Amino acid sequence: MRTETIELAGSSPGVRHLLQAWHFGQPGCGPKAYIQAALHADEIPALLVAQALREPLAALEAAGDIRGHVVLVPWANPVGLAQQTLGLHQGRFDLRDGVNFNRLIPDLTEAVALAVSGQLGADADTNVALIRDALRQAAAALTAGTPVADLKRQLLLWAIDADTVLDLHCDQQATLHLYGLTPQADMLAELGALMGAQAMLLATESGDSPFDEACSRPWFELQRRHPQQPIPLACFSTTVELRGEADTGHELARQDAAAILEFLRRRGVLAGVPQPLPAPRCQPTPLAASEPITAPCHGIVVFHAQPGDRVEAGARVADLVDVETGAVLPLCAQSAGLLYARCATRWARPGQPLAKIAGTTLARTGKLLSA
Ligand SMILES: [Zn+2]
Repeated sequence: MRTETIELAGSSPGVRHLLQAWHFGQPGCGPKAYIQAALHADEIPALLVAQALREPLAALEAAGDIRGHVVLVPWANPVGLAQQTLGLHQGRFDLRDGVNFNRLIPDLTEAVALAVSGQLGADADTNVALIRDALRQAAAALTAGTPVADLKRQLLLWAIDADTVLDLHCDQQATLHLYGLTPQADMLAELGALMGAQAMLLATESGDSPFDEACSRPWFELQRRHPQQPIPLACFSTTVELRGEADTGHELARQDAAAILEFLRRRGVLAGVPQPLPAPRCQPTPLAASEPITAPCHGIVVFHAQPGDRVEAGARVADLVDVETGAVLPLCAQSAGLLYARCATRWARPGQPLAKIAGTTLARTGKLLSA
């Protein structure tokens, strides 16, 4: 294992933010996998899975069983890790400006489209090499004025030429679920079967450029713009939600790490014969059909369903109790589906998303992810 440490630019005098990448195998000799943990910072199960990956990867490397290159960023957000207010860890949003750490990741599509203009040909492998080179150059040309902008730039630099990108997160209270690009549904289902995912949510664009899409969507866009040239979706990228924020356990982390390694084996990053896929626990469904249950007003949240529960259309998912009148407002699901995540707090403000249901009947438009 080779440890690379870099210092983020843009910090105030006397403050240093360090970012580490652990490298296993050799760059350029086979498929590349990039794995990062806890871009939102307060996603401790993701940090634990990164730790659970370290020893097995080191052992595989020592045995000569890494065919390509694995880059593991064990804590992807040192700025967010340090954010504390009144004794509480504050992840997800940059306290400087309120921007979600996993949004507005630079979209390199236009820069790459310009760079490869007139050069794409009839050979898919040549096109992949050309586009990858342009992606590297576009990422290297990004500039950053704050530590968080530099963080996004640096993570993208490490990830942008990978064949596989696994962005490890968690939700507040949740089952294991995945987000991915619609045309990569089969590969997402493969990872989902290995990890025991109970929801897999697909979109071609979920809005505001989250990290997984910043890596995969340039390929999708170039393919769409050049239907005459063979352009594969050469980067499989997914957001892996490792259950709820309190779901830290050594055995769970060991299982998750083993599933990730098995996926890398199937992708040719690791040597060895893959095991048969376990039976999937669900099929991918459109993110646009995922139903947010939202609080219309202030109140006490009392749930009737928990993560992993299948709910029917019209089912009562939660009550909102008005503390002034005592009125109980039932909140019901419009669509049938699996409740895959819910909030951890029990006091709701108006407009607050309380739960998410993976359904099949809705067709939401606009920004599909919660803030
Ligand atoms: Zn997250």
